[in-house]
Amino acid sequence: MENPFGIRSLARGFQVATPEVQFDTVNGRGPAIISHAHADHVAENPKKPVFASPPTADLLRARGHVGDIEKLEFGQWRNFDGWRLKLLPAGHILGSAQVLVERADGLRLLYTGDMKTRRGRTCEMAEFEPADDLLTECTFGMPIFRFPPEEEVAATMVEWARTCIADGLIPVFLGYSLGKGQEIMSILAEAGIPMLVHSSMWHVTEVYKRWGYSFGQAVRYSIVSRGEKRAWVIPPHVRANMTDRVTRARICYVSGWALMESRRESYRASLMAPISDHADYYELIDVIERVAPKRLWPVHGPRADLFAAEMGARFNIQSIALDMLVEEKQPRE
Ligand SMILES: [Zn+2]
Ligand SMILES: [Zn+2]
Repeated sequence: MENPFGIRSLARGFQVATPEVQFDTVNGRGPAIISHAHADHVAENPKKPVFASPPTADLLRARGHVGDIEKLEFGQWRNFDGWRLKLLPAGHILGSAQVLVERADGLRLLYTGDMKTRRGRTCEMAEFEPADDLLTECTFGMPIFRFPPEEEVAATMVEWARTCIADGLIPVFLGYSLGKGQEIMSILAEAGIPMLVHSSMWHVTEVYKRWGYSFGQAVRYSIVSRGEKRAWVIPPHVRANMTDRVTRARICYVSGWALMESRRESYRASLMAPISDHADYYELIDVIERVAPKRLWPVHGPRADLFAAEMGARFNIQSIALDMLVEEKQPRE
């Protein structure tokens, strides 16, 4: 398959050869563009200079990046020698960006980072532009992944939380500290449900507040406040520690992976809430239609190779999974 940009997958992130630019890593060559502040996308070395959107820059600082950060406003070209780039909103979490690279010969490459096309409560709405090469995530790139309307899932979460509280139980929502946590908080805040929020989430929520988002009656989790009638919002990895010996705790797992009933047991979930920060299979197809690439490079899917073959045939374009040798075992942020 032709590869005019010379795109390569690194241990983490991607290297482009012509022009020299790197995405979501600082271990390659050329300017390092960080698409968003999730742990698997930020600089491996927090002292290295990077480029990021203004909200992502704030989140990177909150998460310990000490090197220079050049802020790139969404939609504004940044010129380099013989090429230019601009960031487009990716709709994944606050500040998440896609990177559009344009060469002097007019050839364009779009790197989506993580993205979704649905409107999130706590992030910018995604925008897409045409490109010759599309380097896209395909985390949920299988036809079994079709997310139900978010309003329905949110209504179920709210009703379940109210019932739990009325029955003297503690509704505990599991979501990643950055992004999913704030979406959950926003849903509960809108319904007037008071919350206790894990400290890791509290920390990044401060950045969201600076960007104009509000979260109602949320307080930071503490031994004192844990006796109050509130919903808990905590990241999945602290579930066992925080709830295993709390007999009144009931769990709601909030993730795209909640579509898979097999996940219920591992999180001891009473309620499975399939709300995702990522595009589902049908949104991915929509994105490919909108970008209309000549070459497609899907990454990060459990079966990115299958997705690549399928889309290649569907759109009659060249298509290959860039990291087809990398097996994804864990859900990604
Ligand atoms: Zn990711
Ligand atoms: Zn992410």
